[in-house]
Amino acid sequence: MTTPDIRPLKHHKGRTVPAAIQDEIAGRGVSQRIPLSFFERAYEHGGMATTDRQATTLALAHALSAAERGLSVIPLSRTKLPALRSPHRPAPGPAHADSRHSGPEPVPPPCHGECGRPGHGVYDATTDPARIRELFAAAPWATGYGIACGLPPHRLIGVDLDVKSGTDATGSLRELALRHLFTIPPTVVVLTPSGGRHVWLTGPPDAVIPNSAGRLAPGIDIRGAGGYLVGPGSRTDHGVYATAPGTAHLVPAPCPPSLLRLLLPPPRAPHPATHPSVGDRGQGLVQFVLAAHEGQRNTRLFWAACRAYENGIGRALRAPLIDAAVHTGLTEREARATIASAARMTGHHP
Ligand SMILES: [Zn+2]
Repeated sequence: MTTPDIRPLKHHKGRTVPAAIQDEIAGRGVSQRIPLSFFERAYEHGGMATTDRQATTLALAHALSAAERGLSVIPLSRTKLPALRSPHRPAPGPAHADSRHSGPEPVPPPCHGECGRPGHGVYDATTDPARIRELFAAAPWATGYGIACGLPPHRLIGVDLDVKSGTDATGSLRELALRHLFTIPPTVVVLTPSGGRHVWLTGPPDAVIPNSAGRLAPGIDIRGAGGYLVGPGSRTDHGVYATAPGTAHLVPAPCPPSLLRLLLPPPRAPHPATHPSVGDRGQGLVQFVLAAHEGQRNTRLFWAACRAYENGIGRALRAPLIDAAVHTGLTEREARATIASAARMTGHHP
């Protein structure tokens, strides 16, 4: 009687991975030319377009190269979201399709990867090449990779300069630099498909830089602890991310101290129990939205809603902001969607 190969198959995202491929993933196999070839073989009958497979192969190569530079990475899908779904979340169904009318939001699971399974977004990020190959093997639809911010050794801070909706974020940053007397040092800059740019800076070990959207100025988002940047070489629905000419081999430069001060979290209110009044600050935000010209209505609404959520008056100010936005000509539906994304961006439940 012959002895069959009884090695159990492992499951990646519900996909059965043949033992030979496990070997390659685990680096037990064949040759060192493997970085990427296992995708070709593993999914050659999977009906995936060649271009997708090549995109995945390239994304993995770029991710491995970033990891060599000390940057922790995760696979991203074409939508720029983490490619691996949470193992703690039920499959989406009609019941979840419209969260607007559902009851209280479910409490997010506290697991940040302690369960050992992949699918925890930026918490999966690693510099370990074997682990990176595993993550990509579990997400063969990945076409890009994210670089986790805030992690040692670089403690990356991403300054995301947007050009959507006519905002001139680069101009705003220049203005901030003049006002606060700093210069952006030569550093890695990544060009986004929409014409924006990500400026890579590094933070000191003792500072936790929070994510923020438009807090510095409209169009300037900050990716800090818990955030990630789409890595250069990633392919998304909107195009490819690439390093700006001459910056690919630079080492990310330290964030100038006076810019760092602007990025640190606003001091907490002394009495968090007493509800901050919507009063003046809320009125200011509503006025800001009301004064929007066509072309800046959505940006202004988003900015104001972010500020409201950051200041603990997001929910209270939602209705006045919607009214103001509708007054400027946005539809209620647009206004609600913009405020919901501001809520998400600032870490709140819409
Ligand atoms: Zn978990």
